[in-house]
Amino acid sequence: MVGRFDGQVVLVTGGGSGIGRATALRLASEGAVVGVFDRDRDHAERTAREAGADGAACVAIGGDVSQEADVERAVAHLVREAGALSGLVTSAGIFHPEDFKPAAEVGLDAFMAVVGVNLVGTFLAVKHALPHLVERRGALVTIASTAALRGHGFGSGYTASKGGVDAWTRLVAVQYGCHGVRANCICPGSVDTPMTGGVHQTPEAVEQAKQRIPLQKVAQAEQLASVAAFLLSADASHMTGQTLVVDGGTTIAG
Ligand code: NAD
Repeated sequence: MVGRFDGQVVLVTGGGSGIGRATALRLASEGAVVGVFDRDRDHAERTAREAGADGAACVAIGGDVSQEADVERAVAHLVREAGALSGLVTSAGIFHPEDFKPAAEVGLDAFMAVVGVNLVGTFLAVKHALPHLVERRGALVTIASTAALRGHGFGSGYTASKGGVDAWTRLVAVQYGCHGVRANCICPGSVDTPMTGGVHQTPEAVEQAKQRIPLQKVAQAEQLASVAAFLLSADASHMTGQTLVVDGGTTIAG
């Protein structure tokens, strides 16, 4: 069977876990060669191995998205191994416990650490992927959060970084549309991943989270991966600069 991504090379940042991992597996199952980039090299290798179980050739790359040299090296490595990128998904992201304090108590180091990975890391991955995406008239998907859209009331650096990712994705869409490059952003609500493991620790916490969600389910990472795959694919060929909210209806429910 012909896959939607046959012959395509896609870089997924944060591909070692959660939404990034599920996206890498989904894209590989549809024919892509996926570069799995993560600061946790073992997890990147695990995802690449899992993706390869279907016969897909995937490349694990260790590195930190907030460091330009690492990102530059990762893109160059993938291009050397597999060819020019036609897709990018930026899923690397972090929380920081101190960032959840009231704004006046958040230290600059904590704020900058979160912005450094979530926003600067997205900028760097997109910046270094763009020349290849232009060559291939490819597409990119950024992962922000509903924190970009609603007043969650916690996470200073997190909220600022996700708002930045959402807005900046539109800039890229406008600047690079004339090159045939599409850029779209996904804002997930609550997703069951290692990142939220602490939040969804107890059955009571899961129950509480579900009460805020009209579909009454915390999302699974695969439900985000399928939307990322759609946005990267030719099925979304006339969509750019869009923010897709994947939150079980939380944002629209009063
Ligand atoms: P996760 O912790 O399961 O996965 C994130 C991955 O990013 C990890 O493998 C981690 O090692 C990697 N990473 C972190 N910092 C990195 C760095 N500096 N360089 C390279 N890799 C790095 O988290 P997740 O839930 O899959 O989150 C993925 C994205 O989705 C994040 O941007 C997150 O903010 C966003 N998001 C998640 C939720 C949720 O409820 N899980 C909700 C909204 C948005």
